[in-house]
Amino acid sequence: MPRKELAHLLKNGYLFGLANKMTNTSTTAPLSQPSYSDDFIKSILADVKTIAMVGASPNWNRPSYFAMKYLQSKGYKVFPVNPVAAGQEILGEIVYPSLDKLPKQVDMVDIFRKSEDAGEITDQAILHGAKIVWMQLGVINDEAAARAEKKGLRVVMDRCPKIEFSRLFGELSWHGFNSKVISSKRRSKGIAEQNRHSNSAKTVTATPGFETKAIHSGASPDPTTGARSTPIYQTTAYVFDDADHAASLFNLQTFGNIYSRLSNPTTAVLEEKISSLENGRGATCTASGHSAQLLALLPIMDPGDTLIASTKLYGGSITQFGKTFKKFNWNCKFVDFDDLTSVEDAANGSSVKAIFGESLANPGGVVSDIDALSSIAKSVGIPLLIDNTMATPFLCQPIQHGADIVVHSTTKFLSGHGNAMGGAIVDSGTFDWAQNDKYPSLAQPEEAYHGLNFYESFGDLAYTTYGHAVGLRDLGPTMAPMNAYLTIMGIETLALRMEKHVANAEVVANYLHNHDKVSWVSYAGLEESNYFHLAKKYLQKGAGSVFTFGIKGGYDAGVKFVEKCQLLSHLANIGDTRSLVLHPASTTHRQLTETQRISAGAGDDVIRLSIGLETVEDIIADLEQALR
Ligand SMILES: *Cc1c(COP(=O)(O)O)cnc(C)c1O
Repeated sequence: MPRKELAHLLKNGYLFGLANKMTNTSTTAPLSQPSYSDDFIKSILADVKTIAMVGASPNWNRPSYFAMKYLQSKGYKVFPVNPVAAGQEILGEIVYPSLDKLPKQVDMVDIFRKSEDAGEITDQAILHGAKIVWMQLGVINDEAAARAEKKGLRVVMDRCPKIEFSRLFGELSWHGFNSKVISSKRRSKGIAEQNRHSNSAKTVTATPGFETKAIHSGASPDPTTGARSTPIYQTTAYVFDDADHAASLFNLQTFGNIYSRLSNPTTAVLEEKISSLENGRGATCTASGHSAQLLALLPIMDPGDTLIASTKLYGGSITQFGKTFKKFNWNCKFVDFDDLTSVEDAANGSSVKAIFGESLANPGGVVSDIDALSSIAKSVGIPLLIDNTMATPFLCQPIQHGADIVVHSTTKFLSGHGNAMGGAIVDSGTFDWAQNDKYPSLAQPEEAYHGLNFYESFGDLAYTTYGHAVGLRDLGPTMAPMNAYLTIMGIETLALRMEKHVANAEVVANYLHNHDKVSWVSYAGLEESNYFHLAKKYLQKGAGSVFTFGIKGGYDAGVKFVEKCQLLSHLANIGDTRSLVLHPASTTHRQLTETQRISAGAGDDVIRLSIGLETVEDIIADLEQALR
């Protein structure tokens, strides 16, 4: 099937196990998915009590069966309608041959039939006296919808009530999907039924601000206890309701947790929060930034494939990509991202699967031209991955500039207090994995899931689903719930902290710039920086708080300087509340030759700073006494 047709069908198309159905109906569907406001859908789900499900199947592994079971569990009375199965029972309910044979009038008719058959069913629903006609994901019939609306019925097309209910009443965050719902009211399986009749499902505002999202996204009160701060779900596994429930979880046909290597409710809150801040579709959290990079590339790279990466990456990433990934037969070609022509040249080639850069690179104050890199990636049909660790979504949102995937070491500014390792992968949900044959893991049948095709079945949630269901399941670098909790806490104050980090860093950079013992300062926020203009475009709120400077006196002066610091801590980390200092030549880069050090931006005179949140006069006083 042409990808373009599938794309619009799958725009919200994350109904588990619907692949066949979508394939059957897609050719008759129009080219754009109808759009409905959250409030419209919520009002329907709240008003409805009885549903006739036309096309309900007695076969337990059919999507309609799961939808019916789900809706029953939410307190809806569901009457199955299916001439072929009439007289049989599905989930304790007698199957009726047609709508006119139902024992009573129902509020809503839910259509699990092909688009061309939906017209006749809609006319029967009007005659029957239903108030709502709901057509399932992939089912669109504009003429029928117009007839029903003319008679005063409300109509929803190309949606699944199960998905919408989960999304709007708070159950979808189990895999870190961005539900875009913000609510200070409890929402849960047990009480969702009551909640939909109260005002609890009201979203605060359609476009919440950054600070609101940092605090609230993903983090409604605990469904069971009402605890307002996100609890640490310190559990390895989760009970199944029954064997059927277990089967549908394992088949990825229903929402829920199985085992904490794959998903955990505390981590899911963090995933949704980061996804929301980056304007992504979903996120996968991992044990560290490095494991995020590994998992980000797993669905993309196969043995023999090539990754194009910037020469000015974080040092650990250069080693990971250049040395260890070779063991998977993943090749990495390092290119100078300041020279876009050479990026363009390198990106051509059938084995090239992705471009990887950093929005703001550690340590040299290097800023990437994300818009330009995105154009190059798009022109050859491969995704652009951006490590946004140093900038954080407060300073830069790479997806707005065309990045397809964003990765983070949450160890740094996101957790922010130097106390929790972690990583995150955010998917924009916009890359078309089926546009060429380059991405078999996502766009061809997956053996480990009975031939499931992730992209066909999960659409824009495919990459994130793969991250959990294959990446975390099979490689295992899962974030601990305690670390997820600490990172959630950190992100709540991200905006305040980043403002202060930047303000302090600017003062310190200017102080050093004018100091007679300092030969140069490499901070993208300074006008003399080569990256000042890119920083003005991509980092409008400031160029971060990590930068380097050159100390007069070379290696020996560098060693002496870090030893003299009293307030600044001499260690290998960044993004802490505390100010940190490092002399790379005598520590992280000491194994390299001097020439290698210089090309890595770690020459003998280089000092790296990560400016913290202390009183800025105290930071400067410490630097001053150490320089003296
Ligand atoms: C620290 C860092 C990483 C690696 O993250 P860990 O959490 O240490 O595994 C990757 N990229 C950048 C830019 C970093 O600063």
